[in-house]
Amino acid sequence: MSQTVSETVQVITHDEIIARLVAVIGRDNLPAQLHVPEIGPSAWTYVKDCLDTNWVSSVGTYVTKFETMVAEFTGARQAIATVNGTAALQVALQLCGVEYGSEVLMPSLTFIATANAVSYLGAVPHFVEINERHLGCDVGRLRDYLKDVLVAKNGSPVNRFTQRRITALIGVHAFGHPFDVEELREICRQFQITFVEDAAEGIGSYFGPTHVGNFGKLGILSFNGNKTITTGGGGIILANDETLAKQAKHLTTTGKLPHPWEFIHDVVAYNYRLPNLNAALGCSQMEDLPRLLEAKRELAAAYIAAFKGTNVRVLSEPSGCRSNYWLNAIILDSPGLEQRDVLLAKLHQQGVISRPVWKPMHQLPIYATCPRMPDLHVTELISERLINLPSSSNLRSVGPKLAKRPRVEH
Ligand SMILES: *Cc1c(COP(=O)(O)O)cnc(C)c1O
Repeated sequence: MSQTVSETVQVITHDEIIARLVAVIGRDNLPAQLHVPEIGPSAWTYVKDCLDTNWVSSVGTYVTKFETMVAEFTGARQAIATVNGTAALQVALQLCGVEYGSEVLMPSLTFIATANAVSYLGAVPHFVEINERHLGCDVGRLRDYLKDVLVAKNGSPVNRFTQRRITALIGVHAFGHPFDVEELREICRQFQITFVEDAAEGIGSYFGPTHVGNFGKLGILSFNGNKTITTGGGGIILANDETLAKQAKHLTTTGKLPHPWEFIHDVVAYNYRLPNLNAALGCSQMEDLPRLLEAKRELAAAYIAAFKGTNVRVLSEPSGCRSNYWLNAIILDSPGLEQRDVLLAKLHQQGVISRPVWKPMHQLPIYATCPRMPDLHVTELISERLINLPSSSNLRSVGPKLAKRPRVEH
Protein backbone atom coordinates (compact mmCIF):
# COMPACT_ATOMS: atom_id res chain seq x y z
CA MET A 1 0.00 0.00 0.00
CA SER A 2 3.02 2.26 0.10
CA GLN A 3 3.29 4.76 -2.71
CA THR A 4 6.09 7.23 -3.09
CA VAL A 5 5.04 10.80 -2.36
CA SER A 6 5.87 12.04 -5.83
CA GLU A 7 3.45 9.60 -7.45
CA THR A 8 -0.12 10.79 -7.57
CA VAL A 9 -2.55 8.05 -6.74
CA GLN A 10 -5.54 7.91 -8.99
CA VAL A 11 -8.73 7.19 -7.07
CA ILE A 12 -11.00 5.01 -9.18
CA THR A 13 -14.68 4.18 -8.82
CA HIS A 14 -16.27 0.73 -8.64
CA ASP A 15 -17.40 1.06 -12.25
CA GLU A 16 -13.84 1.88 -13.28
CA ILE A 17 -12.54 -1.15 -11.34
CA ILE A 18 -15.01 -3.37 -13.15
CA ALA A 19 -14.17 -1.84 -16.55
CA ARG A 20 -10.47 -2.52 -16.02
CA LEU A 21 -11.12 -6.11 -14.91
CA VAL A 22 -13.34 -6.77 -17.93
CA ALA A 23 -10.62 -5.33 -20.18
CA VAL A 24 -8.06 -7.76 -18.74
CA ILE A 25 -10.35 -10.79 -18.92
CA GLY A 26 -11.88 -9.96 -22.29
CA ARG A 27 -15.63 -9.48 -22.73
CA ASP A 28 -15.91 -12.71 -24.74
CA ASN A 29 -14.58 -14.70 -21.80
CA LEU A 30 -17.38 -13.67 -19.43
CA PRO A 31 -18.74 -15.08 -17.24
CA ALA A 32 -15.31 -15.82 -15.78
CA GLN A 33 -15.21 -18.25 -12.86
CA LEU A 34 -12.85 -17.80 -9.94
CA HIS A 35 -10.69 -20.81 -10.79
CA VAL A 36 -11.34 -23.79 -13.03
CA PRO A 37 -8.97 -26.64 -13.92
CA GLU A 38 -7.29 -26.85 -17.31
CA ILE A 39 -7.13 -30.49 -18.33
CA GLY A 40 -4.57 -31.46 -20.96
CA PRO A 41 -4.90 -34.27 -23.53
CA SER A 42 -2.68 -36.76 -21.63
CA ALA A 43 -5.29 -36.83 -18.84
CA TRP A 44 -7.60 -38.83 -21.09
CA THR A 45 -4.83 -41.29 -21.89
CA TYR A 46 -3.74 -41.83 -18.30
CA VAL A 47 -7.20 -42.04 -16.76
CA LYS A 48 -8.33 -44.37 -19.54
CA ASP A 49 -5.29 -46.52 -18.81
CA CYS A 50 -6.54 -46.94 -15.22
CA LEU A 51 -9.98 -47.92 -16.52
CA ASP A 52 -8.59 -50.29 -19.16
CA THR A 53 -6.32 -52.06 -16.70
CA ASN A 54 -8.80 -52.04 -13.78
CA TRP A 55 -6.30 -50.23 -11.52
CA VAL A 56 -8.73 -47.59 -10.34
CA SER A 57 -8.38 -47.58 -6.60
CA SER A 58 -5.86 -47.73 -3.81
CA VAL A 59 -3.12 -49.61 -5.64
CA GLY A 60 -1.51 -48.79 -8.98
CA THR A 61 1.52 -47.29 -10.64
CA TYR A 62 0.22 -43.72 -11.06
CA VAL A 63 0.37 -42.96 -7.34
CA THR A 64 4.12 -43.62 -7.19
CA LYS A 65 4.61 -41.84 -10.53
CA PHE A 66 2.72 -38.79 -9.26
CA GLU A 67 4.66 -38.74 -5.99
CA THR A 68 7.94 -38.87 -7.91
CA MET A 69 6.89 -36.07 -10.25
CA VAL A 70 5.87 -33.81 -7.35
CA ALA A 71 9.04 -34.60 -5.41
CA GLU A 72 11.18 -33.79 -8.45
CA PHE A 73 9.30 -30.59 -9.21
CA THR A 74 9.40 -29.28 -5.65
CA GLY A 75 12.85 -30.58 -4.80
CA ALA A 76 11.48 -32.40 -1.74
CA ARG A 77 13.24 -35.64 -0.94
CA GLN A 78 9.95 -37.50 -0.67
CA ALA A 79 6.31 -36.79 -1.46
CA ILE A 80 3.45 -38.84 0.01
CA ALA A 81 0.13 -38.54 -1.82
CA THR A 82 -3.08 -38.29 0.21
CA VAL A 83 -6.81 -38.13 -0.40
CA ASN A 84 -6.85 -34.34 0.14
CA GLY A 85 -4.78 -31.50 1.53
CA THR A 86 -6.59 -31.40 4.86
CA ALA A 87 -5.73 -35.06 5.50
CA ALA A 88 -2.12 -34.35 4.52
CA LEU A 89 -1.97 -31.52 7.05
CA GLN A 90 -3.57 -33.58 9.81
CA VAL A 91 -1.04 -36.38 9.37
CA ALA A 92 1.87 -33.95 9.03
CA LEU A 93 0.88 -32.29 12.30
CA GLN A 94 0.53 -35.63 14.06
CA LEU A 95 4.01 -36.64 12.90
CA CYS A 96 5.36 -33.29 14.09
CA GLY A 97 4.23 -34.00 17.63
CA VAL A 98 0.96 -32.06 17.78
CA GLU A 99 -0.83 -33.87 20.57
CA TYR A 100 -4.23 -33.83 22.21
CA GLY A 101 -4.76 -30.72 24.33
CA SER A 102 -1.80 -28.77 22.93
CA GLU A 103 -1.97 -25.50 20.99
CA VAL A 104 -0.91 -24.79 17.41
CA LEU A 105 -0.17 -21.25 16.23
CA MET A 106 -1.47 -20.15 12.82
CA PRO A 107 -2.54 -16.95 11.05
CA SER A 108 -6.19 -16.16 11.62
CA LEU A 109 -6.52 -15.38 7.92
CA THR A 110 -6.49 -18.83 6.34
CA PHE A 111 -8.80 -21.42 4.85
CA ILE A 112 -10.77 -23.37 7.47
CA ALA A 113 -8.81 -26.58 6.76
CA THR A 114 -5.73 -25.23 8.57
CA ALA A 115 -7.67 -24.90 11.83
CA ASN A 116 -9.72 -28.06 11.28
CA ALA A 117 -6.65 -30.27 10.81
CA VAL A 118 -5.51 -29.11 14.25
CA SER A 119 -8.94 -29.77 15.77
CA TYR A 120 -9.06 -33.32 14.36
CA LEU A 121 -6.07 -34.12 16.57
CA GLY A 122 -7.79 -32.74 19.66
CA ALA A 123 -5.44 -29.77 19.67
CA VAL A 124 -6.45 -26.10 19.81
CA PRO A 125 -5.75 -23.48 17.13
CA HIS A 126 -4.13 -20.28 18.43
CA PHE A 127 -4.51 -17.33 16.07
CA VAL A 128 -1.83 -14.77 15.28
CA GLU A 129 -1.59 -11.60 13.20
CA ILE A 130 -0.59 -11.34 9.54
CA ASN A 131 1.71 -8.99 7.67
CA GLU A 132 -0.15 -6.98 5.02
CA ARG A 133 2.67 -7.34 2.50
CA HIS A 134 2.52 -11.13 2.01
CA LEU A 135 -0.43 -12.09 4.28
CA GLY A 136 1.72 -14.60 6.18
CA CYS A 137 2.47 -14.31 9.91
CA ASP A 138 3.78 -10.94 11.09
CA VAL A 139 7.16 -12.05 12.33
CA GLY A 140 7.93 -9.01 14.51
CA ARG A 141 4.56 -9.05 16.23
CA LEU A 142 4.83 -12.81 16.72
CA ARG A 143 8.21 -12.54 18.41
CA ASP A 144 6.96 -9.94 20.91
CA TYR A 145 3.80 -11.93 21.54
CA LEU A 146 5.62 -15.19 22.20
CA LYS A 147 7.99 -13.46 24.62
CA ASP A 148 4.94 -12.34 26.56
CA VAL A 149 2.82 -15.50 26.35
CA LEU A 150 5.29 -18.38 26.55
CA VAL A 151 6.83 -19.86 29.66
CA ALA A 152 9.05 -22.93 29.77
CA LYS A 153 7.73 -25.96 31.61
CA ASN A 154 9.81 -29.14 31.73
CA GLY A 155 11.74 -27.73 28.80
CA SER A 156 8.64 -27.18 26.61
CA PRO A 157 6.98 -23.89 25.66
CA VAL A 158 3.66 -23.45 27.46
CA ASN A 159 1.00 -20.77 27.06
CA ARG A 160 1.06 -19.17 30.51
CA PHE A 161 -2.61 -18.16 30.26
CA THR A 162 -4.03 -21.56 29.29
CA GLN A 163 -1.23 -23.77 30.65
CA ARG A 164 -1.31 -25.73 27.39
CA ARG A 165 1.83 -26.74 25.53
CA ILE A 166 2.43 -24.96 22.25
CA THR A 167 3.61 -27.71 19.94
CA ALA A 168 3.70 -26.23 16.46
CA LEU A 169 3.24 -23.22 14.24
CA ILE A 170 1.64 -23.55 10.80
CA GLY A 171 2.80 -21.01 8.22
CA VAL A 172 0.34 -20.47 5.36
CA HIS A 173 1.36 -19.28 1.90
CA ALA A 174 -1.82 -17.31 1.22
CA PHE A 175 -2.96 -17.39 -2.43
CA GLY A 176 0.45 -18.87 -3.28
CA HIS A 177 2.48 -15.85 -2.12
CA PRO A 178 5.50 -17.01 -0.11
CA PHE A 179 5.82 -15.48 3.37
CA ASP A 180 9.10 -14.92 5.24
CA VAL A 181 9.79 -18.63 5.72
CA GLU A 182 13.33 -18.24 6.96
CA GLU A 183 12.47 -15.68 9.62
CA LEU A 184 9.48 -17.64 10.79
CA ARG A 185 11.50 -20.84 10.96
CA GLU A 186 14.11 -19.02 13.02
CA ILE A 187 11.50 -17.80 15.52
CA CYS A 188 10.15 -21.33 15.84
CA ARG A 189 13.65 -22.62 16.50
CA GLN A 190 14.25 -19.92 19.08
CA PHE A 191 11.05 -20.77 20.98
CA GLN A 192 11.31 -24.55 20.43
CA ILE A 193 8.11 -24.75 18.42
CA THR A 194 7.91 -27.10 15.41
CA PHE A 195 7.44 -25.29 12.13
CA VAL A 196 4.99 -26.84 9.64
CA GLU A 197 4.13 -25.37 6.23
CA ASP A 198 0.62 -25.27 4.85
CA ALA A 199 1.65 -24.76 1.24
CA ALA A 200 -1.74 -26.07 0.02
CA GLU A 201 -2.01 -23.11 -2.37
CA GLY A 202 1.65 -22.91 -3.24
CA ILE A 203 2.66 -25.38 -5.95
CA GLY A 204 5.04 -23.47 -8.24
CA SER A 205 5.94 -20.85 -5.60
CA TYR A 206 9.50 -20.26 -4.43
CA PHE A 207 11.18 -18.47 -1.56
CA GLY A 208 14.56 -17.63 -3.05
CA PRO A 209 15.51 -20.65 -5.14
CA THR A 210 13.62 -23.12 -2.93
CA HIS A 211 10.10 -24.38 -3.52
CA VAL A 212 7.70 -23.64 -0.66
CA GLY A 213 6.80 -26.59 1.56
CA ASN A 214 10.48 -27.49 2.04
CA PHE A 215 11.20 -25.16 4.95
CA GLY A 216 9.06 -26.74 7.67
CA LYS A 217 9.68 -30.05 9.39
CA LEU A 218 6.95 -31.18 6.97
CA GLY A 219 4.98 -29.31 4.32
CA ILE A 220 1.78 -30.04 2.44
CA LEU A 221 0.21 -29.22 -0.93
CA SER A 222 -3.41 -29.51 -2.07
CA PHE A 223 -4.72 -30.70 -5.43
CA ASN A 224 -8.35 -29.80 -4.85
CA GLY A 225 -10.38 -28.83 -7.93
CA ASN A 226 -9.90 -25.09 -7.37
CA LYS A 227 -6.13 -25.15 -6.84
CA THR A 228 -3.45 -24.41 -9.48
CA ILE A 229 -3.47 -28.06 -10.57
CA THR A 230 -5.88 -30.76 -9.49
CA THR A 231 -6.25 -34.49 -9.00
CA GLY A 232 -10.01 -34.05 -8.60
CA GLY A 233 -9.33 -34.13 -4.88
CA GLY A 234 -5.96 -34.82 -3.37
CA GLY A 235 -3.02 -33.62 -1.37
CA ILE A 236 0.60 -34.44 -0.69
CA ILE A 237 3.00 -34.37 2.22
CA LEU A 238 6.47 -33.03 1.38
CA ALA A 239 9.21 -34.57 3.51
CA ASN A 240 12.95 -34.09 3.56
CA ASP A 241 13.50 -36.55 6.38
CA GLU A 242 13.55 -40.21 5.36
CA THR A 243 12.09 -41.47 8.66
CA LEU A 244 9.22 -38.97 8.69
CA ALA A 245 8.46 -39.82 5.06
CA LYS A 246 8.19 -43.53 5.88
CA GLN A 247 5.96 -42.77 8.85
CA ALA A 248 3.78 -40.52 6.69
CA LYS A 249 3.27 -43.29 4.13
CA HIS A 250 2.52 -45.79 6.88
CA LEU A 251 0.08 -43.52 8.71
CA THR A 252 -1.84 -42.61 5.54
CA THR A 253 -2.17 -46.23 4.37
CA THR A 254 -3.83 -47.93 7.38
CA GLY A 255 -0.56 -48.75 9.13
CA LYS A 256 -0.35 -52.15 7.48
CA LEU A 257 2.88 -54.08 7.77
CA PRO A 258 4.11 -55.48 4.45
CA HIS A 259 3.10 -59.13 4.09
CA PRO A 260 1.82 -61.13 1.09
CA TRP A 261 -1.50 -62.02 2.78
CA GLU A 262 -1.62 -61.23 6.51
CA PHE A 263 -3.42 -58.16 7.85
CA ILE A 264 -1.18 -56.84 10.58
CA HIS A 265 -1.50 -53.18 11.52
CA ASP A 266 0.87 -51.81 14.13
CA VAL A 267 -0.68 -48.38 14.67
CA VAL A 268 -4.14 -46.77 14.60
CA ALA A 269 -3.73 -45.18 11.19
CA TYR A 270 -5.82 -43.68 8.41
CA ASN A 271 -7.10 -44.65 5.01
CA TYR A 272 -5.95 -41.39 3.46
CA ARG A 273 -4.27 -42.69 0.31
CA LEU A 274 -4.87 -41.08 -3.05
CA PRO A 275 -6.70 -43.40 -5.51
CA ASN A 276 -4.82 -44.37 -8.67
CA LEU A 277 -7.48 -42.70 -10.87
CA ASN A 278 -6.83 -39.36 -9.20
CA ALA A 279 -3.07 -39.81 -9.39
CA ALA A 280 -3.36 -40.51 -13.14
CA LEU A 281 -5.04 -37.13 -13.60
CA GLY A 282 -2.33 -35.64 -11.39
CA CYS A 283 0.46 -36.99 -13.62
CA SER A 284 -1.09 -35.25 -16.60
CA GLN A 285 -1.50 -32.02 -14.61
CA MET A 286 2.14 -32.15 -13.49
CA GLU A 287 3.24 -32.36 -17.13
CA ASP A 288 1.21 -29.23 -17.88
CA LEU A 289 2.18 -27.34 -14.72
CA PRO A 290 5.04 -25.20 -16.14
CA ARG A 291 2.81 -23.96 -18.97
CA LEU A 292 -0.12 -23.29 -16.61
CA LEU A 293 2.16 -21.32 -14.28
CA GLU A 294 3.34 -19.18 -17.19
CA ALA A 295 -0.23 -18.42 -18.22
CA LYS A 296 -1.15 -17.51 -14.63
CA ARG A 297 1.87 -15.22 -14.44
CA GLU A 298 0.82 -13.40 -17.59
CA LEU A 299 -2.67 -12.93 -16.21
CA ALA A 300 -1.30 -11.59 -12.91
CA ALA A 301 0.94 -9.15 -14.80
CA ALA A 302 -2.10 -7.89 -16.70
CA TYR A 303 -4.08 -7.35 -13.50
CA ILE A 304 -1.12 -5.56 -11.90
CA ALA A 305 -0.66 -3.30 -14.94
CA ALA A 306 -4.39 -2.51 -15.03
CA PHE A 307 -4.34 -0.95 -11.55
CA LYS A 308 -0.91 0.64 -11.56
CA GLY A 309 -0.95 4.11 -10.04
CA THR A 310 -4.45 3.69 -8.60
CA ASN A 311 -5.77 3.31 -5.06
CA VAL A 312 -6.48 -0.37 -5.76
CA ARG A 313 -3.62 -2.59 -4.71
CA VAL A 314 -3.06 -5.86 -6.57
CA LEU A 315 -1.27 -8.40 -4.42
CA SER A 316 2.08 -9.24 -6.02
CA GLU A 317 4.94 -11.56 -5.21
CA PRO A 318 7.15 -10.44 -2.30
CA SER A 319 10.66 -9.44 -3.39
CA GLY A 320 13.09 -12.34 -3.60
CA CYS A 321 10.17 -14.72 -4.10
CA ARG A 322 8.36 -16.24 -7.03
CA SER A 323 4.62 -16.67 -6.63
CA ASN A 324 2.38 -19.06 -8.52
CA TYR A 325 -0.37 -16.40 -8.42
CA TRP A 326 -2.91 -19.08 -7.54
CA LEU A 327 -5.65 -16.53 -6.86
CA ASN A 328 -5.14 -12.92 -7.83
CA ALA A 329 -6.38 -10.42 -5.30
CA ILE A 330 -7.16 -6.74 -5.13
CA ILE A 331 -7.21 -4.84 -1.88
CA LEU A 332 -9.55 -1.85 -1.76
CA ASP A 333 -8.54 1.24 0.13
CA SER A 334 -12.08 2.00 1.24
CA PRO A 335 -12.96 0.70 4.68
CA GLY A 336 -15.89 -1.49 5.57
CA LEU A 337 -17.67 -4.61 4.41
CA GLU A 338 -20.47 -2.60 2.85
CA GLN A 339 -18.27 -1.13 0.11
CA ARG A 340 -16.76 -4.50 -0.62
CA ASP A 341 -20.13 -6.22 -0.88
CA VAL A 342 -21.55 -3.54 -3.18
CA LEU A 343 -18.60 -4.13 -5.50
CA LEU A 344 -18.90 -7.93 -5.25
CA ALA A 345 -22.58 -7.77 -6.23
CA LYS A 346 -21.74 -5.62 -9.27
CA LEU A 347 -18.89 -7.91 -10.28
CA HIS A 348 -21.16 -10.94 -10.17
CA GLN A 349 -23.78 -9.10 -12.25
CA GLN A 350 -21.12 -8.48 -14.89
CA GLY A 351 -19.97 -12.11 -14.87
CA VAL A 352 -16.67 -11.42 -13.11
CA ILE A 353 -17.08 -14.14 -10.51
CA SER A 354 -15.03 -12.83 -7.60
CA ARG A 355 -14.94 -13.80 -3.95
CA PRO A 356 -14.16 -12.14 -0.66
CA VAL A 357 -11.28 -13.59 1.31
CA TRP A 358 -12.11 -16.14 4.04
CA LYS A 359 -13.70 -14.85 7.21
CA PRO A 360 -10.88 -14.77 9.78
CA MET A 361 -10.87 -17.87 11.96
CA HIS A 362 -11.24 -15.91 15.21
CA GLN A 363 -14.51 -14.45 13.91
CA LEU A 364 -16.11 -17.84 13.23
CA PRO A 365 -18.33 -18.98 16.11
CA ILE A 366 -16.69 -22.46 16.08
CA TYR A 367 -13.27 -20.93 16.75
CA ALA A 368 -14.22 -17.70 18.54
CA THR A 369 -13.15 -18.94 21.98
CA CYS A 370 -9.68 -20.11 20.87
CA PRO A 371 -6.61 -18.31 22.15
CA ARG A 372 -5.48 -15.42 19.93
CA MET A 373 -3.37 -12.32 19.81
CA PRO A 374 -5.49 -9.54 21.31
CA ASP A 375 -4.80 -7.24 18.35
CA LEU A 376 -5.62 -8.75 14.95
CA HIS A 377 -6.43 -5.50 13.18
CA VAL A 378 -4.41 -6.19 10.02
CA THR A 379 -6.22 -9.52 9.65
CA GLU A 380 -9.56 -7.76 10.07
CA LEU A 381 -8.67 -4.90 7.77
CA ILE A 382 -7.53 -7.22 4.98
CA SER A 383 -10.55 -9.48 5.45
CA GLU A 384 -12.85 -6.52 4.81
CA ARG A 385 -11.04 -5.24 1.75
CA LEU A 386 -9.59 -8.15 -0.18
CA ILE A 387 -11.34 -9.57 -3.23
CA ASN A 388 -10.10 -12.59 -5.16
CA LEU A 389 -10.33 -12.28 -8.92
CA PRO A 390 -10.92 -14.86 -11.66
CA SER A 391 -7.52 -16.54 -11.97
CA SER A 392 -7.81 -19.68 -14.11
CA SER A 393 -4.77 -20.47 -16.26
CA ASN A 394 -7.06 -20.68 -19.30
CA LEU A 395 -9.13 -17.63 -18.35
CA ARG A 396 -8.57 -15.75 -21.55
CA SER A 397 -9.01 -18.76 -23.84
CA VAL A 398 -11.81 -20.71 -22.18
CA GLY A 399 -14.33 -20.61 -25.03
CA PRO A 400 -12.41 -22.32 -27.83
CA LYS A 401 -10.59 -24.75 -25.53
CA LEU A 402 -13.75 -26.11 -23.92
CA ALA A 403 -15.26 -26.73 -27.33
CA LYS A 404 -12.23 -28.73 -28.41
CA ARG A 405 -12.07 -31.49 -25.80
CA PRO A 406 -10.00 -34.39 -27.09
CA ARG A 407 -12.04 -37.46 -27.99
CA VAL A 408 -10.82 -40.88 -26.93
CA GLU A 409 -11.92 -44.14 -28.58
CA HIS A 410 -13.31 -46.64 -26.09
C1 LIG B 1 -7.08 -25.89 -0.06
C2 LIG B 1 -6.46 -25.65 1.24
C3 LIG B 1 -6.28 -26.65 2.21
C4 LIG B 1 -6.90 -28.00 2.14
O1 LIG B 1 -6.82 -28.69 1.01
P1 LIG B 1 -7.99 -29.70 0.55
O2 LIG B 1 -7.30 -30.48 -0.50
O3 LIG B 1 -9.11 -28.85 0.04
O4 LIG B 1 -8.37 -30.52 1.73
C5 LIG B 1 -5.56 -26.36 3.35
N1 LIG B 1 -5.07 -25.14 3.59
C6 LIG B 1 -5.24 -24.14 2.71
C7 LIG B 1 -4.63 -22.81 3.02
C8 LIG B 1 -5.95 -24.35 1.52
O5 LIG B 1 -6.14 -23.34 0.67
